[in-house]
Parts: sequence; C-alpha cells; structure tokens
Amino acid sequence: NRQIKLASRPHGAPTAANFEMATSEIPKPNNKQILLRTVYLSLDPYMRGRMSDAASYADPLQVGDVMLGGTVAQVVESNIDKFAVGDLVVSNSGWQDYSVSDGIGVLKLDKDMAHPSYGLGVLGMPGFTGYMGLTDIGKPQKGETLVVAAATGPVGATVGQVANHLGLHTVGIAGGAEKCAYAIDKLGFDACIDHTADDFAQQLKDACPKGIDVYYENVGGKVFDAVLPLLNAHARIPVCGLVSQYNATELPDGKDRLSVLMGNILSKRLTVKGFIIFEEYGDHYPEFLTTMSKWVESGKVKTKEHQVDGLDQAPTAFIGMLAGDNFGKTVVKVADV
Ligand code: NDP
Repeated sequence: NRQIKLASRPHGAPTAANFEMATSEIPKPNNKQILLRTVYLSLDPYMRGRMSDAASYADPLQVGDVMLGGTVAQVVESNIDKFAVGDLVVSNSGWQDYSVSDGIGVLKLDKDMAHPSYGLGVLGMPGFTGYMGLTDIGKPQKGETLVVAAATGPVGATVGQVANHLGLHTVGIAGGAEKCAYAIDKLGFDACIDHTADDFAQQLKDACPKGIDVYYENVGGKVFDAVLPLLNAHARIPVCGLVSQYNATELPDGKDRLSVLMGNILSKRLTVKGFIIFEEYGDHYPEFLTTMSKWVESGKVKTKEHQVDGLDQAPTAFIGMLAGDNFGKTVVKVADV
C-alpha cells in the first residue's frame, strides 16, 4: 500500500521535500468496515491549509500523517450491507492506494456513471461549492454583472456557467490567454481577463461597464484590489477562497488597506460572507447532485479535467495547481477501475 505522507511543513510554496512516499501493509477491514482501493485522487487548494499548523476551521495534519483528500475508490471487501464488492464510491481515502472505512460520509456512485472522476469535480465538492456560494450568498439577478477568478477551475467554471444560464453578464479572470479563450469559447463567459497582464485592472474595468454586483471570491490579492473600486452598491461577495494567499509567509507590502475595505463595506453596503461548503450546506448536496448531473449530461454545464497519471505524481501536480499549472479540475489517476 503506497502512501504519500506529510514529511515537513512548507514555508511558502510547498516543495517535493514536504512529501514522502512510504509503503505499508494493505489494511484489514474489521467486521463493520469496507476496504477501498483508490482509483482517482482529487487535489484541492484547501490541502495547503492542512499542511500548515496555523489556526483554521479544521485541524491540521501532523507531520507523518498520510495526506488527506477526496477520492473515487472501489470497494474490494465489504462488511457493510449497503456496499457491495465492485461498487464505486466517493470517499476520503487520502493520498494512498488502500484504506478502510466505516462507511460514514462514503457516497455510492451510479454504476453507469460515464466519468466517475466527475464526482470529485463538477458533480462533487468543488462544483457544489460554486453552485451554493453563487446562488445562496451571491443572490444573482438577471442582468447583473458577476466576476469570478480561477475561472477555468472546477469552482470558477461552475460559478460562471450557472451565472450565465441565470442571465448575468459574466466576467472571468484566469491566468493566460489559453485559459481565457477557453472560458469564453467553451464555458460561455462574456469576457475573461488575464490577471498576468500589466493593465489587468483597466481591462477588468472595461469588461464591467455597469460595475460589479456579485464578486465570487476565489483568489484575493491583487485581483481583489482591482475588483474593490468596481463594486456597486449592495454588491454581494461570497468569500470562498483566497488561493493567491495560501503560500504567503507575510502580509503584503504597502500601506494598510483595512480602512479602505471597511469604508467600502459601509458606504456600498456590501454583503461579504465566508462559507465552508459542507459545514453550511451539506444537506443540499443530494438536490445539487440531481440538478447538476442533468446539466452535465445535457451539455448545459461543461467541465474539463487536468488528469495526471500515477500516485507518485500527486506532489508535483499539487504544487503546480497552487501556481495555476492546472487547466481544469486536478485529478490523479491512481489505478484502473
Ligand atoms: P483551481 O483548480 O481553480 O486551482 C486554483 C487556481 O487558482 C489556479 O489554477 C490558478 O488559476 C488560480 N490562482 C493561483 N494563484 C493565483 C493568483 N495569485 N492570482 C489569481 N489566481 C490564482 O481551484 P478550485 O476551483 O478547486 O478552488 C477555487 C477556490 O475555491 C480556492 O480558493 C479554494 O480554496 C476554494 N474552495 C473553497 C471551498 C469552501 O468550502 N469555501 C471549497 C472548495 C474550494 P489561473 O491560472 O487561472 O490563475
């Protein structure tokens, strides 16, 4: 059983030295457990937070722990009635080949599902996050303007497409011309701005002639700085993630902008609300899955995966994802079904 463990805590961007590959015996399920074999491993930005021991909404990993992560896995032994050998499930098996589970939080996937790995992306945690944050906190209204960064990733792509179908003017932000072209041509954004461009703030302003009503916050940093002056009165900001800051080791240079931010919140009467998807919205997952499965099947919502092959590639793919090397939802193929 190959396992990738946290070898040391990163300072700044993670490096290969923060991970170590180990092997252990394949675990044995007890009489109330199942044995799972990982097929796909999801790589997500939140994992960077768990590698650090800074206080957060969830406990950190300890050095020596197996890296955590959502997985699509196959049941290879079952001592729980509702799971049969051969079933495919979404589980939290982490960065390893085999794990045992008592079945809590393990979801069975439809046997006929064309792309089981979508259970980690558009039909799983990130898609659900984009959908709920947009609809419940963003309160999108037809004709309004929505902005979202990391627009080709699984959260941003969901936000943009759902907002587009609801009749909003949608402006994506992404790293590079290829991602921006994909956001417009395939995902249906009305515009997409490359955040690496020198005149990024001006381009964003030009793309939002009526200001911004919903800013779905995925990244923070200089993207937020460009968005803030464009926000309209009563704009809503679902605060989903701040990926540009996850590797930061100190506060940004320059003068303290807290009073500017608070002044904007007050004078524009902004709604700024953070959320952690399954904490706030877990009960809504079944209804989301039903709706989104139909949309994906009909082509109304499109998705793109950035698949890498082999568990040993997970650290490199994870480090790259935080830097924007991924193009679509990052998934590691660990084994064949
Ligand atoms: P992605 O697959 O989109 O990967 C992260 C992307 O962030 C990169 O590909 C890159 O895209 C972009 N990025 C990285 N650095 C910067 C930067 N300095 N400026 C602008 N963009 C940057 O991630 P997900 O779709 O999985 O997640 C998106 C966000 O949602 C993250 O912040 C994540 O933490 C958050 N999240 C929050 C949840 C919650 O419950 N609150 C649940 C799930 C996700 P590009 O090259 O286009 O810049």
